Amino acid sequence: MNERFSPRLHLWLAIAGIAFRFVLLITGLSAALWFALIHFPDAYNPFTPPDIREAPTVVTPLKLRGLAGEYEICTSVVRASGAKAERTSISSATEGCGMERGLRLQQSRISYGGGIDLTCPAMTALLMWERHVVQPAAQEHLGSEVTRIRHMGTYACRNVNHSAAGRRSGHAAANAIDIQGFDLADGRRITLLSHWGKETDEGRFLAAVHEGACSIFPMVLGPDYNTLHADHFHFEISRWGVCR
Ligand SMILES: [Zn+2]
Repeated sequence: MNERFSPRLHLWLAIAGIAFRFVLLITGLSAALWFALIHFPDAYNPFTPPDIREAPTVVTPLKLRGLAGEYEICTSVVRASGAKAERTSISSATEGCGMERGLRLQQSRISYGGGIDLTCPAMTALLMWERHVVQPAAQEHLGSEVTRIRHMGTYACRNVNHSAAGRRSGHAAANAIDIQGFDLADGRRITLLSHWGKETDEGRFLAAVHEGACSIFPMVLGPDYNTLHADHFHFEISRWGVCR
């Protein structure tokens, strides 16, 4: 009898042994992950909201996407940075257009020549880019400060590339901004049209702010993407990542 049962018993013991080690492994991994999430600095924790005052990290685009359904949290993130922003919405009768809950930027460190309306995650990304990319790049390449950003708008009820059919543009939800140039404190004006792609200080500044935007906005399109973007950068909080 024993001889007949023992192989089966050995098999069950072996299975139990493997199962036990597996449970141990899963428990260990969960504990390690939990420990990491609790003790990680917030800057590297994708589950905590971003702080505009802190330099972007590899998890910044994830944090920005996480703000999408968190209007209250996102509004406090923007206000904590010192920017003045009021809650606003854009209603539209056209399908796929309008912004249900967004912000109007009244004042930041740089002028936009008037209030701009954006979704809160896009506003957060823009303020991060201003502070951690634009101003340091202006100091490094131009020895001056950016006082004004020239833009071509945020909200527009239209499709991608202005085509009659197809997908709605990020602008239709005020989730994107088109930027065409920068005014400096020393009076210079930098535009994509005149300075993009040049081996000059101005050209290097534009390359730096484009590259820096890619570490914050999921979607960044510029003059190298296509001729429609010859005179501006398109920054968007999109689902897919593009840096062109
Ligand atoms: Zn655009």
